[in-house]
Amino acid sequence: MRYTEYLLPTLKETPADAEVVSHRLMLRAGLIRKVAAGIYNYLPLGLRSLRKVEQIVREEMNRAGAHELLMPMVVPAELWQESGRWQQYGRELLRFKDRKEADFCLGPTHEEVITDIVRHEVRSYRQLPLNLYQIQTKFRDEIRPRFGLMRGREFIMKDAYSFDLDDAGADAAYERMYQAYRRIFQRCGLNFRAVEADTGNIGGSSSHEFMVLAESGEDAIVSCDSCEYAANVEKAELRAPATDEPTPTEGLKKVLTPARKSVEEVAAFLNTSPQKLVKTLIVQTDKGETLAVLLRGDRELNDIKLCRLLDCAWVEMAGEEVVLKATGAPSGFAGPVGLKLRILADREVQGLADFITGANEKDAHFTGVNLGRDFAVEAFADLRKAVAGDACPRCEGRLQIWRGIEVGHVFKLGTKYSEALNAVVLDDQGRERVLVMGCYGIGIGRTLASAIEQNHDADGIIWPLPIAPFEVLVVMLNPNDAEVKAAAEQLYAELLGEGVEVLLDDRDERPGAKFKDADLLGIPLRVTVGARGLKDGQVELKERAGGAVAMPAVVKAAEDIA
Ligand code: ATP
Ligand code: MG
Ligand code: MG
Ligand code: MG
Repeated sequence: MRYTEYLLPTLKETPADAEVVSHRLMLRAGLIRKVAAGIYNYLPLGLRSLRKVEQIVREEMNRAGAHELLMPMVVPAELWQESGRWQQYGRELLRFKDRKEADFCLGPTHEEVITDIVRHEVRSYRQLPLNLYQIQTKFRDEIRPRFGLMRGREFIMKDAYSFDLDDAGADAAYERMYQAYRRIFQRCGLNFRAVEADTGNIGGSSSHEFMVLAESGEDAIVSCDSCEYAANVEKAELRAPATDEPTPTEGLKKVLTPARKSVEEVAAFLNTSPQKLVKTLIVQTDKGETLAVLLRGDRELNDIKLCRLLDCAWVEMAGEEVVLKATGAPSGFAGPVGLKLRILADREVQGLADFITGANEKDAHFTGVNLGRDFAVEAFADLRKAVAGDACPRCEGRLQIWRGIEVGHVFKLGTKYSEALNAVVLDDQGRERVLVMGCYGIGIGRTLASAIEQNHDADGIIWPLPIAPFEVLVVMLNPNDAEVKAAAEQLYAELLGEGVEVLLDDRDERPGAKFKDADLLGIPLRVTVGARGLKDGQVELKERAGGAVAMPAVVKAAEDIA
């Protein structure tokens, strides 16, 4: 590829609204451009890397015996009504009507669609085991899209679904996917950990998340310093912090009392319906105080009520903030009208007795509350204090705590969807059996962003070779010098002939600007062709990561021209 013929708009300035390094570098290196909140263009260079991640995923899925297909992004409501998720999923599900007033949604995940395929096309146990996957655009109307590709609203996911006759088969399918995931993230050059994960409202069966270790991660995980145990704090059984120790999260401790209430009870107490319990939020006041709140309101109207532990107030959603409109009975939220509360984290209320916190009555605290999951993930310092040094549940070791980015998730689904949609096959006795399912997701763009979080320096990206957009950058220092031009062109042609992926910087720019861009783009190997070097019979080879040059084809081609 010739730079002069390519679309590669690099930026010198750090984009103002990019909070994490991968987002900043993806914008600066011309990989992506924002179209709307959480919705991005993948520019040519970004797409090349994205395709490489996809290809690694594809190869490992195929190797594990999964088969690729492609499902639609637009899904009719009927399928989601059959599974019950049309009602339950909350506002991350983007619903709309077609011209005939029929309901549709943009698929945030495809359990229903795949189960529909299998119930129609698979009749006999002889067709099992079956594992089908796709690499496809998903849409989730995330309340707080941020960090570029890390938490988009439109994003590319690999989602796989396994179908087996019995639990033993499903366990084997899960294990194959687990091992495939390990290989995928190893091949992407990531430092990651597989951790036990919460199974949420599906319950019972097991689940692991693949976490890339990074301080910018939105998840918190614990691991034992002396055995294999590692878990998302959502799942880990953690010791609650001592209740007499004053911390900024004072109010949260009250939630950790054993009092229990179901969503229905909470709703009745608040004189509302369970459907109107919308979200649990973690918000921060202007004083930096972190609070857990429960939002309730009509999903369609901008009419949301905020309930703190002992207080109650009317608030209005305003972008990434909620604004206090009026304080309410009985005790009143301790803040002036107009007070802005920044939203740090949110979680959809699932319609079950999970995730519910907050009340306006003393000690009326709720079920399913988990320190890590509901509160402390954002208040990480508090969590670290609460957890560090805790005893491991598996051995005599001590727990350590990390931040992580969830790049992949494997999940034993059991028969939740196959039962709801009646996906059955006949076994060898001719009896009907409900299929046992698993689902397995990988965020393609999030994986790419995570790789940058772990591989960069002050000057730019340092791509791991397997997912680099190009392998080699040839810098033609002065395209107006006939000798330099000829040598660089020859090198370029030779490398292309060898099948090396090479970008030729043939721009008429100052060397300083070219080197700055080279560091920003982070292509693993830079070959610089300049007049001075050529005089001495030399071109310069430089690994972006530092260290020895490990590409024999490039070394040979460089010797040929020098
Ligand atoms: P999170 O906890 O970060 O919201 P999730 O648990 O909702 O993610 P899954 O339903 O497990 O996500 O989806 C599978 C994978 O898809 C995730 O492991 C992640 O890599 C990716 N993913 C999920 N949501 C997003 C998003 N908004 N933007 C980019 N990738 C995402
Ligand atoms: Mg999510
Ligand atoms: Mg998650
Ligand atoms: Mg997940």
